Amino acid sequence: MSKRDYYEILGVSKDATASEIKKAYRKVALKYHPDRNPDNKEAEEKFKEAAEAYEVLSDENKKARYDQFGHAGVGGAAGGGFGSGMNMEDIFSQFGDIFGGAFGGGGGFGGFGGFGGGTRQQKGSNLRIRVRLNLEEMMEGVTKKVKVTRMMLHPDATFKTCPTCNGSGQQVRVMNTPLGQMQTASACSSCRGTGKIADKIPTGANNHGLIKKDETVEIKIPAGAREGIQLQVRGKGNDAPFGGIAGDLIVVIEEEAHPELQRDGNNLHYDLNVSLSDAILGADKEVPTATGRAKIKIEPGTQSGKILRLKNKGLPSLEGYGSGDLFVHVNAFIPEKLNKKQREFFEQMREEDNFDPVNQKENRSFFERVKDMFD
Ligand SMILES: [Zn+2]
Repeated sequence: MSKRDYYEILGVSKDATASEIKKAYRKVALKYHPDRNPDNKEAEEKFKEAAEAYEVLSDENKKARYDQFGHAGVGGAAGGGFGSGMNMEDIFSQFGDIFGGAFGGGGGFGGFGGFGGGTRQQKGSNLRIRVRLNLEEMMEGVTKKVKVTRMMLHPDATFKTCPTCNGSGQQVRVMNTPLGQMQTASACSSCRGTGKIADKIPTGANNHGLIKKDETVEIKIPAGAREGIQLQVRGKGNDAPFGGIAGDLIVVIEEEAHPELQRDGNNLHYDLNVSLSDAILGADKEVPTATGRAKIKIEPGTQSGKILRLKNKGLPSLEGYGSGDLFVHVNAFIPEKLNKKQREFFEQMREEDNFDPVNQKENRSFFERVKDMFD
């Protein structure tokens, strides 16, 4: 699909002045604003298209390039135009000044509040907590109960219609500009657009009717959680002033280091030190896993540095399929001191052919050895 002409999108002529372009953009943007066109994909596209057109035509340099070369002059490498990377947040933050604060979009209470008539539904702020998980919990998933201090609406708080805006949530200002009178609608400063103000504030509550309260929240953490991952528990953040939508509780996962196992992505690693005799003669050993212990067999004649792989004993992948492995790195311990009898024994072994090293693999990197195991 070819891109529409930017001037056409905004409905202005090629010799339009900067303020005409601004005015035209404002008109188009208001018409297709998502608050006025909820769940209307076509309007959203038009809204974005207009934002892109304005982005170019309001910038002297970009406009000049566009006038000369068309979309190619301002487009990205793929020809899709830089605007294709713009999301709604960008548009709102970039052009917030154009609307004179008529829309929510950011701000202390978040959310795009209802523009164009009616009050805006406020959203309470989000809360963030950190939850520490050990390997076993990350592996199998866990339900954690955490105490959260939330701002909650006091049950005895009452509200009345905001006298400043008569409950509309908006203040309309008329400004005299060189272009004539312009009307700007913005959220009412007394009630922040909610249309309501506090009537009776019970003791202990703030002037939004909110009071600090501890609540125990149950958080279900799925298997495969990782350090830094964020989960969202809807509605468990702070309540909104005047009974809007409560914010969310953002749970940030922290990883507790395992005393013996090292994690590398979905895989786990363990250093197993065995005696020289065990390496030579073979032995049954136990190694720690994320959830308990596992038995492994050291075959007779196991080389120091050998890596044994316990399939699927690592962590489940976050994508929900497959698991990592547990790699056991076998190290044969060389005694530092020998008694007379032992010394004599090893002196004799020097003469034995089978004590001569056959393949010099000691210098190979760990990754090469791991790679071998998959071949
Ligand atoms: Zn008001």
